[in-house]
Amino acid sequence: VASDGVLIALGGNAFAPPGERLSHAGQQAFALATARALLPLLRAASRALLVHGNGPQVGEMLTRVEVAGDRAYALPLDACVAAVDGELGYDLSQALYNVLRAAGDRREICSVLTQVEIDPQDPAFALPDKPVGRFHAAHDVAALRAQGQTLVEDAGRGYRRVVPSPKPQAVIERDVIARLVAAGVLVIAGGGGGIPVQRRAGLLVGVEAVVDKDHTSALLADALDLTLLVLLTDVAAAFTDHGTAAAREIRAATPAQLEALTAAGHFAPGSMLPKITAASAFAGQPGRRAIICSPDNLDAALAGEAGTTVRLAAGSGP
Ligand code: ADP
Ligand code: MG
Repeated sequence: VASDGVLIALGGNAFAPPGERLSHAGQQAFALATARALLPLLRAASRALLVHGNGPQVGEMLTRVEVAGDRAYALPLDACVAAVDGELGYDLSQALYNVLRAAGDRREICSVLTQVEIDPQDPAFALPDKPVGRFHAAHDVAALRAQGQTLVEDAGRGYRRVVPSPKPQAVIERDVIARLVAAGVLVIAGGGGGIPVQRRAGLLVGVEAVVDKDHTSALLADALDLTLLVLLTDVAAAFTDHGTAAAREIRAATPAQLEALTAAGHFAPGSMLPKITAASAFAGQPGRRAIICSPDNLDAALAGEAGTTVRLAAGSGP
């Protein structure tokens, strides 16, 4: 499937299969498998941008910071996101280099640390609801709250820190990313949704928050005027009545149809809803297509035979 510009967003959980302990070797193996799965799509696209999630890895980084105590300097959440994006950007660019070179493709690959500007007035700041890091025992909660963290009980499994997940308003490195992509460089950017920053007295400063990579992906795909947005995740497609006996795959939908399904409560906030919102926002203009699928059904999804395809009108678009 030829496309003149594609953004591929990789689910963070796909880097960290549920129930498996994370390891750096595991991440490298995943990066290699992903690079192989993406090869046909990358070969067909003259312009390509990759965004990846990083939630589980940021959780591990927070634990490192916590366990180190005062033996090593502490990192705030925004710096943890930056550190993990460095690690995963390295893993992905090395895997892509090896897979593309083996296929005789000599295109350049570049990972760009990405800051995303958020609005300090975003309603998410009033309701931090995105869990990050490990579970804590009840007797540790008071000390963590004294450090300014918000902790909530998680269904009997202990306490977890929650942080705001504001919408990204702008990507600070947008123009350099656009120049690289236009020059044919395979760019990895917006890792984990990007490093959240806000403007204070005209200066950028980091914010202790996380941004959903699906929203940042839609923002970047739109800014670069790409034609295909692929959201790869750990489910085969978006479903109606997900998790019930009545669950059904949505094969194709328009943004208007997805809006009606959203209003009826079919998509969980914080997981599938950001993908639906991102896919609808991107595919809301003619000549564009968004796909939600898993890495193993990518080829079938590109052919419209698996996954969920979102287009302005049925049968339209690239
Ligand atoms: P990613 O790292 O790919 O963004 P998420 O966990 O954020 O992963 O989102 C994928 C998850 O969304 C799936 O594992 C699934 O459990 C959940 N989900 C919630 N509602 C739906 C739905 N309607 N259809 C499919 N999956 C859904
Ligand atoms: Mg997600």
